[in-house]
Amino acid sequence: RFEGIAMAPPDPILGVSEAFKADTNDMKLNLGVGAYRTEELQPYVLNVVKKVEKLMLERGEYKEYLPIEGLAAFNKVTAELLFGADNGVIKQGRVATVQGLSGTGSLRVAAAFIERYFPTAKVLISSPTWGNHKNIFNDARVPWSEYRYYDPKTVGLDFDGMISDIKAAPDGSFILLHGCAHNPTGIDPTPEQWEKIADVIQEKNHIPFFDVAYQGFASGSLDEDASSVRLFAARGLELLVAQSYSKNLGLYAERIGAINVVCSSSDAAARVKSQLKRIARPMYSNPPVHGARIVANVVGDPALFNEWKEEMEIMAGRIKNVRQKLFDSLSAKDKSGKDWSFILKQIGMFSFTGLNKAQSENMSNKWHVYMTKDGRISLAGLSLAKCDYLADGIIDSFYN
Ligand code: PMP
Repeated sequence: RFEGIAMAPPDPILGVSEAFKADTNDMKLNLGVGAYRTEELQPYVLNVVKKVEKLMLERGEYKEYLPIEGLAAFNKVTAELLFGADNGVIKQGRVATVQGLSGTGSLRVAAAFIERYFPTAKVLISSPTWGNHKNIFNDARVPWSEYRYYDPKTVGLDFDGMISDIKAAPDGSFILLHGCAHNPTGIDPTPEQWEKIADVIQEKNHIPFFDVAYQGFASGSLDEDASSVRLFAARGLELLVAQSYSKNLGLYAERIGAINVVCSSSDAAARVKSQLKRIARPMYSNPPVHGARIVANVVGDPALFNEWKEEMEIMAGRIKNVRQKLFDSLSAKDKSGKDWSFILKQIGMFSFTGLNKAQSENMSNKWHVYMTKDGRISLAGLSLAKCDYLADGIIDSFYN
């Protein structure tokens, strides 16, 4: 009976890692998945995480089930980290926070919530966006369409296109926005542009839905990276925010994140939370405890919190240095006079190189550089030492 099952295509992001593993060339480089590596290209566990894990072990913490909504101490600190502890939405108890299976699981619960309570609503996602967004809404049976975001001519934001597509969407649509460090383009709206986006969303009675997977990783400052979300919250809007600690605390495999729903009253927040729990229960029953305790301990302790911020600045700083070096290498090697400065304007872990599918394939086939086919490279997986080699590959792929 399983004979009729067809082979599924490889995942466009995680499939890149599989192809990388199979390559035996010494020069190979994995710039596909957005995971931070050291200058030696080794995975990195934050010192503050190791410290907290030791503490947890010493305390002999139990492994009993968490409640459906997750660890209370985690839910408290995660909402505070996002909105700021003294934000009105927190003080007035208007945020329904439920621990999720990292960013993806939190998005998935939110998608199920939209499907159940807003069956006629549509979600608007940016073109392009993180590839899994489409899978998530498809599987949750939530209709979606795209709004213009990236302008290939300027390798920048198509702001007018974005605004007019958000305006043209049916009233009361959910507008998916990347809180900071847009994936895959690395292009974020300016603070003035965020205000205008909020104006249109408000005018159209849309519901903003933020995906915050890189808080602290874009600018190096947790507060600055949350400013888009806070701007919308300050306008008194209802909104959704999915959070992830995969990147900023390096907790990829712990699957720790949250879904936050800002409501217009604490009563509504309590009701929304009860429904989110109702969705989570038959999906996975309750979330894992280990990552939640790590976050609760790090964010909840002023000294550890400062250590985290210092380490995050180091990670964000290394990515910025690599970004600069790649720009320098490309500019020095490219004799055509092409302006590569768009690389410096992009923010976060990724750079959108402008390489098309065939050129990206040339990067893997000829240069052993693995990247997604949309031309995105993860700078977090690049070292200063490899920038020259990568620049050679990019120039060869562009012009040949
Ligand atoms: N949203 C975006 C935009 C992302 O880039 C990612 C990670 N690549 C996620 C969500 C979710 O990642 P995770 O499930 O590991 O938290």
